[in-house]
Amino acid sequence: MYKFLLGIVLFALLGTPLANANDPVTSDLERLIGAVLGDTPMIDDLKSLTDGIGGRATGSEANLRAVEWGLERFESAGVLANKEAFTMPRAWLEVSATGSVSGIATFPVAVATRPFSTATPDGGLAAPLVDAGFGTGQDFARLGEAALGAWVLIETPVLDDEAGLAGLFQEYGDAAVIEPRAIGAGAVGIIFMSSRPKGLLYRHNAALGVANIHPQLTMEREGAKRALRLLRGGGALNFTARIQISGGGSYQAYNVIGEIPGSTRADEIVIFGAHLDSHDMGTGALDNGANVAMLIDIARQITRLGLKPKRTIRFALWNGEEMGIMGSLGYTRSHRDELDNHIVAAAFDIGTGRITGFFTNGMAALIPPVERYLIPVAGLGPFVHVNAPIVGTDNLDFMLEGVPNLVANQEDANYASNYHASSDTFDKVDQSQLRLNAAVAAAIIWGFANDEGRVPRQSRAEVEALIENTALGQQLRNMGFWNDWEEGARGRQ
Ligand SMILES: [Zn+2]
Repeated sequence: MYKFLLGIVLFALLGTPLANANDPVTSDLERLIGAVLGDTPMIDDLKSLTDGIGGRATGSEANLRAVEWGLERFESAGVLANKEAFTMPRAWLEVSATGSVSGIATFPVAVATRPFSTATPDGGLAAPLVDAGFGTGQDFARLGEAALGAWVLIETPVLDDEAGLAGLFQEYGDAAVIEPRAIGAGAVGIIFMSSRPKGLLYRHNAALGVANIHPQLTMEREGAKRALRLLRGGGALNFTARIQISGGGSYQAYNVIGEIPGSTRADEIVIFGAHLDSHDMGTGALDNGANVAMLIDIARQITRLGLKPKRTIRFALWNGEEMGIMGSLGYTRSHRDELDNHIVAAAFDIGTGRITGFFTNGMAALIPPVERYLIPVAGLGPFVHVNAPIVGTDNLDFMLEGVPNLVANQEDANYASNYHASSDTFDKVDQSQLRLNAAVAAAIIWGFANDEGRVPRQSRAEVEALIENTALGQQLRNMGFWNDWEEGARGRQ
């Protein structure tokens, strides 16, 4: 069945017969694409990771099970795999979080903590609830002393599929300036209205990251709106939060690294990754189980077909991504001596929307080879590449180390509206698009793994220039990485 379909699928989807089909690299790629488009265990893998293991926040038991799951999947595919330890700076998991509004009206509201939020005393933390508008400078000026010792409630624009990734980056950017404003005004805690309606909650990263020492919450949109209407009608309200956190000091977590050794230039490494961890709300299907399953399947098919890449291919299932992009940072530290030999590091982390091209992160020289590698899958395009640095996934430390790096750019589809939310579950995955994305990823992987040429690694001065001349510096601030860069904890020495 799949053999018969293969010709039709290749013709219908890719549109053009592959050029140079007599060239061994091209014919190997043709077989690989055929295989990943076929009836593979990719979707079953994704089901077992998301439904079977579920949410897998770094530091949880489920996360350790996911690590063993990744090792087992690689091993049963005949792919060499190891777990590699790295250090997480601070243990943090929400145990429970509840909230209630009282005063002129009394009602419970559903809340979720933001990572590294502090706990409250057992009896809860009660304080006046004040309307901080959209959290602008003017809003806090208007509040003045009223913010002191209060819970400040911040209104947010709706983040729906139309607002998409741009809306999501805006939400991060807004929070990054609101947090210091609220803390500067003496707030006891910060409450952001959920940007998604119908009671949906999500675990949005605080810009302060591990440095956060305040309670920070997301409150269900409907409850937050009700509270704001009451406050704006002139009533006074209190808010009580009860937050239990399982926390502690630094600990070890693990990346899973699968490897297919190179046949002729084994010391040259190309690395393709997706993060294995997720937040504990939802089951991490779009973010990022889908791309984990996709990469495992490509490794499986390369091995099953007996294909021999010239360069060494590593498949990285990163961990600690949601808690500060720690796993890929750990890799760049423990493999520092090898980084000159890393030809490219690519991340797949935007759900299951169509791959529209790649972010080349300030290295325009990556565009011509990427364009060339994608010719065999041109029918799945068009592909447009964006040479702007992107912060928010596991290319970060490769970028700061000057290693050529890519992030797959994808159609937003349903990514933003389910991002880090309890709704990020298997049913949101576009299974057929994920399979087509696997063909695109296979073409990129095979291209880099067999090419002769390479884009040189950037020097420290070139990385500094990238930060200076693009929005990278601002993005590092928005996402809470600026201090690490400035203090030399991240980036090329
Ligand atoms: Zn992600």
